Amino acid sequence: MTIKTTDLGDLPRGSIGQPDPVILPDPSVLFVRRAERLRVLAVAHPMGDWLRFVALIADAQHRACGPVRPPCGNQDKVVPEAGSSPAPGHDDGKRVDEPPLAAAMTRLDAPFDHALAHIVAVGDDPSIPDVAREILRGLHSLDTRALAGAWLAGTMPAQRAGEAVPICAALQVWFTLRAAALDVSRVHLLPRLGLCPVCGAAPVAGVITASGKAPGARYLHCGLCATAWNYVRASCIGCGESKGLALQEVEGGTGAIKAETCEACHGYAKMFYQAKDMAIEPFADDLGSLGLDLMVSDAGWSRLAPNPFVSA
Ligand SMILES: [Zn+2]
Ligand SMILES: [Zn+2]
Repeated sequence: MTIKTTDLGDLPRGSIGQPDPVILPDPSVLFVRRAERLRVLAVAHPMGDWLRFVALIADAQHRACGPVRPPCGNQDKVVPEAGSSPAPGHDDGKRVDEPPLAAAMTRLDAPFDHALAHIVAVGDDPSIPDVAREILRGLHSLDTRALAGAWLAGTMPAQRAGEAVPICAALQVWFTLRAAALDVSRVHLLPRLGLCPVCGAAPVAGVITASGKAPGARYLHCGLCATAWNYVRASCIGCGESKGLALQEVEGGTGAIKAETCEACHGYAKMFYQAKDMAIEPFADDLGSLGLDLMVSDAGWSRLAPNPFVSA
């Protein structure tokens, strides 16, 4: 396989309507669609077994979104860690440099444990690899809230790399439910436009839409809370530079998946084109296209933000 490089060409600015700046996730469909998409991508895929395992995790995430939800109207009740002082201005609703679910301002509660219990139950599925079963069953004896805190802080111990997937999966449920309960009119883009305006995490990929009220607009998709936010197309999502951007794709591919490389920061991020494939689900399609990451990183580009299920 080889990669093909193109420049960004003419962007259809004139045809773009006014895109919504932020689209909050819908937990009633998010994980079920992800699971469905992962199973489609797993067919005849070199990593098919792993994608099917992640599909089972997504099924569990969907079940975890069912009965327990944060009470309505409580969306702003994000409690600072004991011993830390609240961020100044956090309650005035105007401060825009602190996203409402900033990891440092969250304290995990029972819905996190509930989500993790659903994910641990995937360990009973006879189809999963033994090593995954061992990891899921071993979570019972660990302080999982502490591990989740470490994961959020980027200080997960190296010997717990295997636990990162189930811990992150439970965090995704927790953050997605809280993100969905926010009032979108009170969510503002951050000064660092490349970070999630709801939780501050990095995007897993971008999607160039082909439907909705602003076809042709680009949305970045949060790898943690699944919020999508509008980001101008002609600008690197890592450093904001607009010169020296190029698109790389696998030669002979469908044109639906490209890596946007930036000469200014030598970073890249994956972009998905709905016009070429309406079934794209950014998290699933990112995991299904890690072959492109290998090729692009072999060519010397560094991925701006890894998929949270892949980073060790
Ligand atoms: Zn987020
Ligand atoms: Zn850049």
